[in-house]
Parts: sequence; C-alpha cells; structure tokens
Amino acid sequence: MINIELNKRQQHILEIVKQNGPITGEHIADQLNLTRATLRPDLAILTMAGFLDARPRVGYFYSGKSETQMLSDSLKKILVRDYQSIPVVVNDSVSVYDAVCTMFLEDVGTLFVVDKDSILKGVLSRKDLLRASIGKQELTTIPVNIIMTRMPNVTMCSREDLLLDVAKRLIDKQIDAVPVVRETEAGYEVIGRITKTNIAKAFVALADDEI
Ligand code: ADP
Repeated sequence: MINIELNKRQQHILEIVKQNGPITGEHIADQLNLTRATLRPDLAILTMAGFLDARPRVGYFYSGKSETQMLSDSLKKILVRDYQSIPVVVNDSVSVYDAVCTMFLEDVGTLFVVDKDSILKGVLSRKDLLRASIGKQELTTIPVNIIMTRMPNVTMCSREDLLLDVAKRLIDKQIDAVPVVRETEAGYEVIGRITKTNIAKAFVALADDEI
C-alpha cells in the first residue's frame, strides 16, 4: 500500500500525530471530537501503509518515511521466487538449428543450455544464434556448446535473491536474462528464469499497489 489516497480525516490524523506524537489513540480521538472506535479503521490504515508507527503503551508517532522511502522498502521485499518464470532449456548436444527452432517455438529470447541432469552448462542469446548463422556453416551439425557463453561465465541467481539485485546484474552485464539455479553436488541445477519482462511486471505491480 504505497499510493493510497488519504481521506480528509486520515490527513488530519497524520497532522495531529506529526505535531503531538507520540500520542495515544484516545488523545487523537479527543482532538477530533470522535470516539476511539470511529478512529480505529483510519489508524489501522495509516499504520499498515507505513505513515504511522504504533508502540504499545506509548502511542502513535509519525514514521517520517517519505513515499519514495516506502517505495524503496517495498522493492527490497520482492524476491526472485515471487516473479520467476519457467526456464526454457536445450541440451548441450543439440544443434544450433534446433536451438533456433526452440527459441521460436517457446517464444523466448534466451535459452539455457543444460546437460541431461538439468545442470547449467551455458547460455544462448538471440545474437549468439544470429552470429553463428551468418557464416557459411552447416547449422544442423554445429552443436550449441561451441557457440554458447559457457560456465563459469554465466551470471545466475537463486530463488531467495532480491529481484532488485538481479535487475542490477542485468544492467551491469548488459544481458536480458539470468537462470534461477539451485546448487547441487553435480553443479547448478536450472529451476527458473528471470528476464527483463519479469522485472517489468514487478515494476507495474508496485505501481498498482499490489505489493
Ligand atoms: P542479445 O545478445 O541477443 O541481445 P543478451 O544481451 O542477453 O542478448 O546477450 C548478450 C551476450 O551475453 C550473449 O553472448 C549471451 O550469450 C551472453 N549472456 C546472456 N545471458 C547471460 C548470462 N546470464 N550470463 C552470462 N552471459 C550471458
């Protein structure tokens, strides 16, 4: 709840608490000539939205947080696992031709290359496939593992990472997607993906007050 529109009474309460806080609910009610019960929903909203803090036996005080601070607090609560998509993978032995087909069929811009145990071996972007296609090579016979960006040079993330940190990694490395992985004895198992689209969705959800 970030962009909630405060009604007149809620704004009035905020002013009273700003000037007199910490102040009990009782005293706020007195100043407004209302009962404590009438005020309760407004106080709950202001507290939940982060405008006010409440301490037992002390009362309400103004949290002093700007809307920008609250927005950034919300951003720092969004995890990869809240927005990750299903990964689209190809085996490391398939041909460049097959990878191009998979990219069209699955409608994605990045493929993750894995071995038979779903362990991450590399990444293929659209441009990697285009680059391989402009030579005079036979695409059905070149395996993807000779043109992919390979481990250990693949940027990854885990389910518990902050989405914000992944967004920073995408910008730093100038890439469009990262695999979500889980560490196993055999290597990193691919369990999801985060792309710029997932980050755009989180951005829109924030604006729509869904977080
Ligand atoms: P494109 O090149 O199609 O615009 P990207 O910007 O995502 O797509 O990829 C740029 C280069 O970075 C490609 O060579 C690709 O193999 C590589 N790449 C893509 N994603 C990753 C990643 N998660 N980790 C490391 N390298 C990556």
